[in-house]
Amino acid sequence: MKKAPIKNIEKNPTKYIFVVGGVISGVGKGIAASSIGLLMEARGHKVTSIKIDPYINLDAGTMNPTEHGEVFVLDDGYECDQDMGNYERFLNTTLTELNYMTTGRVYQQVINKERNLEYKGKNVEVVPDVPFEVIHRIKEAAKFANADITIIEIGGTVGEYQNVLFLEAARMLKTKHQNDVAFVLVSYLPVPSNLGEMKTKPTQYASRTLNSAGVQADIIIARGATALDQKRKEKIALFCNVPEENVISAPDVKSIYDVPLNFEKDKIGETIERVLHLPKREANLTKWKKFVAKTKNGKEKVKIAVVGKYFDSGDFVLSDVYISILEALKFSSYESGVGIEIACVNSKDFESKKIPLSMLKKYDGIIVPGGFGESGIEGIISAISYARREKIPYFGLCYGMQLMVIEYARNVLGLKGANTREINPNASDIVIDMMEDQKEKIEKKKMGGSMRLGAYPARLLKGSIANKAYGAIDISERHRHRYEVNNAYREPLEKAGLVFSGLSPDGKLCEIAELPLKDHPFFLGTQFHPEFKARPLDPHPLFTAFIKACINNKNK
Ligand code: GLN
Repeated sequence: MKKAPIKNIEKNPTKYIFVVGGVISGVGKGIAASSIGLLMEARGHKVTSIKIDPYINLDAGTMNPTEHGEVFVLDDGYECDQDMGNYERFLNTTLTELNYMTTGRVYQQVINKERNLEYKGKNVEVVPDVPFEVIHRIKEAAKFANADITIIEIGGTVGEYQNVLFLEAARMLKTKHQNDVAFVLVSYLPVPSNLGEMKTKPTQYASRTLNSAGVQADIIIARGATALDQKRKEKIALFCNVPEENVISAPDVKSIYDVPLNFEKDKIGETIERVLHLPKREANLTKWKKFVAKTKNGKEKVKIAVVGKYFDSGDFVLSDVYISILEALKFSSYESGVGIEIACVNSKDFESKKIPLSMLKKYDGIIVPGGFGESGIEGIISAISYARREKIPYFGLCYGMQLMVIEYARNVLGLKGANTREINPNASDIVIDMMEDQKEKIEKKKMGGSMRLGAYPARLLKGSIANKAYGAIDISERHRHRYEVNNAYREPLEKAGLVFSGLSPDGKLCEIAELPLKDHPFFLGTQFHPEFKARPLDPHPLFTAFIKACINNKNK
């Protein structure tokens, strides 16, 4: 993994905004943190965002996607929480591993320092040495980004044992920089169905729990199904010890991209300026408003099926696992002037015949995301085959590209036993093989953080669909894989019509496979994950090319 260089830019004081959650998880702390960042950037401040996850895991790479949601990958190859994707999208920025920490990473660093005699013989204690390390990391990230404002989201909710040391770090930072640290509590106000009334008491408890950690919220964001009324605003202010204007109403919205504008209506930017002793500035939200206006268009809608294998979670359907893909699809649809309807299709349902393949006919395009292992794979391959034969636009991402190559080898080249070594190392034709440098890592059980990760360059074939989409020959995209197209099969596959239109600069690794336009309206797969670089204000060119093909298919 490439490390981010640490620049030594002394710039003090940077302002810190801690975002913590109360009452329940999943209330949208990440979106709140991202929206605050956007509003402060719109005021001309340089903002960077940090996510703290209380797990022992050193990164999110070893976590099962159905447990944790999407693993987001940064340019520097760091595997982190999906909230980092929200930060990059809202702030239109590129973050580094300095912007993410877990309990495991902090402890690992403390232990490394201890082994290295950096504590100069003193007792190394959980408190204060662990919070000190947290503060050190926050300051490093702020310095590296040369930030005026650093937003730090602490995962979980207040009152959990897991995040106590992070809150302690935040408290310590506040004692040192009284005017430069703000606390935002994102709380939830339930409306019990038998009462039909919005209740503030859980928020009062959350605020008190925060107090017991020595922290007073400066701003309370009141999430709820509906907007906060004046009476409840007053109540929260009175019992949670904040001025009334520091209570921000945050009702559910259709699109997360409305949130910054809603916050702005409740003057959160001005409140932050007051709390942090910042000069009062106007927010320039012209570009964002333009984008948000586009999200409302969509009398015409493209219908996209995401055929994946990580959707099942008990009786619930998880779409969080593919959040960057869903967002990338939306940006490109809005950009193309249409709305979008996305269906999550569980590939295992094709295998069990719960649903027929022909159900895919009703979609204007099909996407197969990345993934690992055997389950649901034959269902995916049959969906890809259907898309190829029925000429439905198809876009395969990472595993989606590898499986597209396997499908082609099986059904066009006639290599019936074609497979990836990941699933069947004894297959007659291993068309997707393990990358050379991965073999040793697997043997030594060095599994975490050891895939081919992060940004690598690729060169595109002139005149290909990929080249026309990017309008460039040289590109850089983010990766996360152990396997690759087996070069021994490149020539036969090409002879059978598949075009490898993107290669690593040394020509050794296949980065993009596509069928020429004369054979299919859009049949393209990438070894990389373009979804990680799609931004609201800068949609990804391949997603846009795919959506355009879907619109054509729909109007056909
Ligand atoms: N399992 C495949 C590999 O390791 C694809 C990974 C992915 O889709 N991210 O190469």
